[in-house]
Amino acid sequence: MEHPPLTLGLLHVAALCLFLLCWGNSSAVSDAKWKKFLIQIDRAVENYKPCAKENCQCYQRIREQDLAPFQEGISEELLSEAISRRLGTHYQIVGKKLYREHDCMFPARCSGVEHFILEIIDDLPDMEMVINVRDYPQVPKWMKPRIPVFSFSKTSEYYDIMYPAWTFWEGGPAVWPIYPTGLGRWDLMRENLISSAEKWPWKKKISKAYFRGSRTSSERDPLILLSRENPDLVDAEYTKNQAWKSEKDTLGKPPAKEVPLVDHCKYKYLFNFRGVAASFRLKHLFLCGSLVFHVGEDWQEFFYTQLKPWVHYIPVKSDLSDVRELLEFVKENDDIAQDISERGRQFIMEHLQMKDISCYWQRLLTEYSKALIYKVKRKSSYNEISPRRLKTEL
Ligand code: UDP
Repeated sequence: MEHPPLTLGLLHVAALCLFLLCWGNSSAVSDAKWKKFLIQIDRAVENYKPCAKENCQCYQRIREQDLAPFQEGISEELLSEAISRRLGTHYQIVGKKLYREHDCMFPARCSGVEHFILEIIDDLPDMEMVINVRDYPQVPKWMKPRIPVFSFSKTSEYYDIMYPAWTFWEGGPAVWPIYPTGLGRWDLMRENLISSAEKWPWKKKISKAYFRGSRTSSERDPLILLSRENPDLVDAEYTKNQAWKSEKDTLGKPPAKEVPLVDHCKYKYLFNFRGVAASFRLKHLFLCGSLVFHVGEDWQEFFYTQLKPWVHYIPVKSDLSDVRELLEFVKENDDIAQDISERGRQFIMEHLQMKDISCYWQRLLTEYSKALIYKVKRKSSYNEISPRRLKTEL
């Protein structure tokens, strides 16, 4: 066997040392550059306490917080205020039956709400409540008296009691042509997203920021503009919604083609923004197994409080001033990005199942009913809402 000359061997060793030195240095340089994010991630993960899977305990705190302002007791007069001010739809539960005032502003939304109440009605005591099915909360903190109204979303400026939105069952936004009858059932959507995520594992995903949606809030504009300026970094476009009148509503460009949520999974970085209130989009993005960039933190749904920045998603400032830097960071730290995406996916998989939604409704209404300090009298003019057979049973 022939040996390489000694000088050649030494040269190899020297080259290897130089490579290791440079590599070591460049990773040290990169670590220093991203120190502020790396520290935040380490701290957030260290402090994170996963919550129990049973009995929707995960969300106990938010239920308590929302109901706390009404613990002194809800009188009949107080509830009448919510009804007379038309802050929502009036429901009564009497003798394990559900009754509703005749009108509902958005019948499919009421139907989505009623599905969950009827599912658990045998476990509920008598009560009455006002459920707001508009997008916007109704009880700002300055409002007197402090009126109990259930809404799906709010900011910390409101006393509304959050409930799981109708869209978990039906009544979600209709998006033509991809969701002509609304976003559709969450349990079915979950299955579709899980299958799509399998087709698009992390390593196969396109390393781009992605967003499709309408201009329900101008907070989305900076990402659309960044995409127009730098299409290799971001693919974000405005689609039409029912209110679309002209290209002004899509920031001066023709509306983009609508893209189903399952097709978002091929991208690594998915953006969520507030809309009129919170956007229903957020929960779906996690199940793609992509990394969620959640812009702003004001608008909540009941489950948001348990999703933690840096543990489950990348928090982005509302004005998007940090977005370029954050995208650069995740691109240079792919393993860390994947870990965050995986924790986010895992959370929604485990803690936002249909049974968690039913469980939240049950505990929320049961705890709320304890605050009523009078005996509910059924209004004879109200219609009983009868259980409809579940589609899966047909
Ligand atoms: N949507 C979608 N693909 C599109 C446009 C919208 O899947 O091309 C979904 C979006 O994820 C959200 C819903 O349709 O869940 C409504 O989106 P929009 O941006 O119109 O309003 P938002 O509720 O987010 O304010």
